[in-house]
Amino acid sequence: MKNIKTSKTILACLLIFSAIAACNLFTAAPNSSPQPPASTAVPTIIPVETAVEVSAGSSGLGDSLYPGFGNGGYDTVRYTLDITVNDVATSDLTAIVTIEANATQNLGSFNLDFNGFEISELTVNGEPAEFSRKGQELTITPFKPLIENELFTVVIKYSGSPEEMQSVALPVQTGWVKAGDRSFVMSEPDGSASFYPVNDHPLDKAFYTFRVTVPKPYEVAANGLLTATIENGDTTTYLFELRDPMASYLATINIDKFEIETMKSENGIPIRNYYSTSLPKSYREPFARQGEMIDYFSDIYGPYPFEVYGSMMMDTEFGSALENQTLSIYGTDMINFDDMEETERTVAHELAHQWFGDSVSVADWNEIWLNEGFATYSEGLWIEHISGRDALDEWIKLIYADVAKFPEYYPPPGNPPADDLFNGGVYERGGLTLHALRLDVGDEIFFKIMKTYYDRYKGGNVTTDDFLVVANEVSGKDLTNLLDDWLYSEQLPSILELGLGAK
Ligand SMILES: [Zn+2]
Repeated sequence: MKNIKTSKTILACLLIFSAIAACNLFTAAPNSSPQPPASTAVPTIIPVETAVEVSAGSSGLGDSLYPGFGNGGYDTVRYTLDITVNDVATSDLTAIVTIEANATQNLGSFNLDFNGFEISELTVNGEPAEFSRKGQELTITPFKPLIENELFTVVIKYSGSPEEMQSVALPVQTGWVKAGDRSFVMSEPDGSASFYPVNDHPLDKAFYTFRVTVPKPYEVAANGLLTATIENGDTTTYLFELRDPMASYLATINIDKFEIETMKSENGIPIRNYYSTSLPKSYREPFARQGEMIDYFSDIYGPYPFEVYGSMMMDTEFGSALENQTLSIYGTDMINFDDMEETERTVAHELAHQWFGDSVSVADWNEIWLNEGFATYSEGLWIEHISGRDALDEWIKLIYADVAKFPEYYPPPGNPPADDLFNGGVYERGGLTLHALRLDVGDEIFFKIMKTYYDRYKGGNVTTDDFLVVANEVSGKDLTNLLDDWLYSEQLPSILELGLGAK
């Protein structure tokens, strides 16, 4: 993400076969009914392993900043979002969301995150399930308990219009946003629950299918590959498939009248950009070098993680850009016509997040500098690629001066406050952290660290310790103190090589 501001058990009971009906007791045999009271026909041999404990999945995943985000007890595999938008201006919609998930424990009940809407039908494994709602928590009690390591399917039908949702992490509206006669989705970190039931934490990545129907002449831009466009008379259905797992906050559905621009990077990565038809062609300019950027970052970090990329520029101001997987989105106010180099850096920033943020994702929101510091430093590397090392050094000096002058805007990046997750420190001081590491270990080792880290954790989740382990391993040094000083110390460390900081 980049925004305008930042550039400044219930353990049911013990398992005895003579259980009492009140306990959530059942047997492990799939499709079996709850056991009758033991007094009727006790078998001569009772296999001990048939009796299992059942518990409720947790209503949070234990995130250190946002303990209520996500849910425990299962792991989602695929979301299929079948959404029909009846009126684009009001975003009045009807939806059928299908979630395939794997139980990671025996579950008597489990939670999803979901705000607003009227739920008309909810089934688990094809049978109606009981549910209750409190705030963002949707608690579902299946007809039959779910068995550890078995797949289950939840289908939820609902209708209504997405409610406005304020992010807890920054003072903006998050999730599905209505913008006049168009709408967009920008969810980092907590907006996804505004339009679909979800296990909303980056630790639980899944595949996605989007089947979105809109009235003509509107069009849809979502994550992944557009695999079908179906004409239904007055409406059109757009089918998008995302064939790499994605963190929930990166799911995006954007509705407008678009002009689509397609191209390929020299290495063959397809690019499709969506621009509101009402935008002048000049808004396309900063996106012209995305192919070159993809090939450059593929060179230094490892092959581009996904099968397609592109950007969406909607004709509305929202003060941000977000690296939604395979489709970054931008408000028009992210284009600075007075400084197109700065705007191009923003494009490089969102693209670099496809490696760091989208493919390699945080295990805890507290680690956000692993997204933003990396994307910020990638801006610097793009400058170096285009204009040489001196230009990078000049840029580093400007950032350092800013961070040194306004420490209140640039706190140490390692411990961001929950209500100001995207503070300037995680960006600028996070980026400086990587530059300081590079100066310490030298270029060859630094780029080997970046490649090794990406290769080891692509498609997964990381902590700062994971990065430190790779850095130490590749360099043969102990870089603990260096990273600690840059990430956690109130005192801004020096970069003596550039004459910055204390002598
Ligand atoms: Zn960012």
